[in-house]
Amino acid sequence: MEDSRREDGPGGDARMSPDAGAGAPVDFLRAIIEEDIRDGKRGGRVHTRFPPEPNGYLHVGHAKSIHLNFGIAAQYGGFCNLRFDDTNPEKEEVEYVESMKEDVRWLGFDWEDRLYFASDYFEQIYEWAEKLILNGRAYVCDLSADEVRETRGTLTEPGRPSPYRSRSAEENLGLFRRMRAGEFPDGSRTLRAKIDMASPNMNLRDPVMYRIRRATHHRTGDAWCIYPSYDWTHGQSDAIERITHSICTLEFEDHRPLYDWFLDQIDLDERPQQIEFAPLNVTYTITSKRRLRQLVTEGHVSGWDDPRLPTLCAMRRRGYTPEAIRVFMERIGLAKRESTVDIALLEHAVREDLNKNAPRTMAVLRPIRLVVESYPEGRVEEFEIPINPERPELGVRRVPFSREIYIEADDFRETPPKKYHRLYPGNEVRLRGAYLVTCTGVAKDPATGAITEIRCTHDPASRGGSAPDGRRVQGTIHWVSAAHSFEAEVRLYDHLFTRPDPSGDKEGRDFKEFLNPESLVILAGCRMEESMRGVRPGEKYQFERIGYFCVDTRDSGPGRPIFNRTVTLRDTWARIEKAQR
Ligand code: ATP
Ligand code: MG
Repeated sequence: MEDSRREDGPGGDARMSPDAGAGAPVDFLRAIIEEDIRDGKRGGRVHTRFPPEPNGYLHVGHAKSIHLNFGIAAQYGGFCNLRFDDTNPEKEEVEYVESMKEDVRWLGFDWEDRLYFASDYFEQIYEWAEKLILNGRAYVCDLSADEVRETRGTLTEPGRPSPYRSRSAEENLGLFRRMRAGEFPDGSRTLRAKIDMASPNMNLRDPVMYRIRRATHHRTGDAWCIYPSYDWTHGQSDAIERITHSICTLEFEDHRPLYDWFLDQIDLDERPQQIEFAPLNVTYTITSKRRLRQLVTEGHVSGWDDPRLPTLCAMRRRGYTPEAIRVFMERIGLAKRESTVDIALLEHAVREDLNKNAPRTMAVLRPIRLVVESYPEGRVEEFEIPINPERPELGVRRVPFSREIYIEADDFRETPPKKYHRLYPGNEVRLRGAYLVTCTGVAKDPATGAITEIRCTHDPASRGGSAPDGRRVQGTIHWVSAAHSFEAEVRLYDHLFTRPDPSGDKEGRDFKEFLNPESLVILAGCRMEESMRGVRPGEKYQFERIGYFCVDTRDSGPGRPIFNRTVTLRDTWARIEKAQR
């Protein structure tokens, strides 16, 4: 897998910007924009747009585009529109529009009063289509969708002209108006641009501009039974909104000549420029609304916000913060060459953010009882433990300690392997923030032989966790008081796929073959610190020694929090980086 942390880092072809902060590297896209500003092109304006199709939920790939479009507008004192590219009524829904608005806002961007819909332009775009017809640049074609495809030719062979290509302008105009009036059945005719059936660029072989489709549109209702194609709509919408730089992903590179051709057909004093960049790909991740929808509808995940998905609503639910996503986007940079980013870099960013901002707590995920035999029954002490050692100013929390506590089952071994420094018979460890304890033995179920509890004695002089004689112990383990803690469900998430490139495209295999059966492990009966009873949905914590967790916003009940693991404490990215040094 390719390393692409900094696709255009200072070592690459980035240049230093005269306008940006000192030393800030400029990517190819900002270089173009800065040149346009210097040349006074389009009055030196910068106006971008983020143009999602409301046919699913936004994912981490879209976050890159959002970050880029809104970020560039802000950086150069321009504007960014939110525009829904809603030309496909069958797949689009209000639910998606609303979720997309919420996600853009959550990422921290504001379109102010610039919320637009391509469907708002249907009338204008229709008028322009009539203009193309009158100029002999578009014609009504009676071929079926299959026939259009069959006569399009291949990369090596030219296409064959439609038998309807030479209709007169009057005939075309009449037919096109009757298409709009609903006189013809769905799919029976199309309006096509008259460009070049022999063009080496397939997109220029008389592309379809309008289809007949009786579908209720989420905004225009049944006002239209013909709908414009993406290509015919996009550039014209950009022109209407006076977009200066129409930034999109690489797959539209081959569409650019068509984008320009369509703009050539209408009178404009100024025209937008399409610029492509490499889409964001992340290891172990699928970024395609179509495939994500499949996972949702086929029940491989619990919904669009299943915390294993790379949708923004799922990432939010899992505990990702907009700040972490922003830092990640800044680190990966921008390039024209397609590449894949290691998911460890994304995890690294959220870990960094939560390390600074998440309060600490102790939670025992797989509890086993530890009895401190030397500690008086009925006694309770409160220990003060820092809320966040990274930020001492936040103070301490009070954690009750008593004779019976829970520790992680994995923090005890009856027969310890080599280098095991946690609890085992005869060994002394530190109970985090409390006492040093020495294991004296275990109690077992006589029938099964399973360990039912562990026993130990404590050193009363080690109150707070260190011994006055200065002796050291190698292990520190976390704990909660049995009587004071409460039970909660914890959901452990892992990568949704088992391989770095789950697409299966190269081998012609289905991406669902690579679903990770262990991507979700639900633990019931985890024991939480008493202070966690009042947590609220969406709050984020570090479970000491384990990872970062977020209170689930969907399934938690009052006084019954459910915790989603955002990320473990193990930083694979830091290790990768170290190895590269
Ligand atoms: P999907 O294939 O997931 O449906 P899309 O490109 O069809 O994605 P749109 O709603 O059309 O989805 O995308 C809105 C904008 O987001 C487009 O400008 C598109 O180029 C951009 N975008 C989509 N996927 C990515 C990605 N992985 N990285 C960066 N930008 C992306
Ligand atoms: Mg698309």
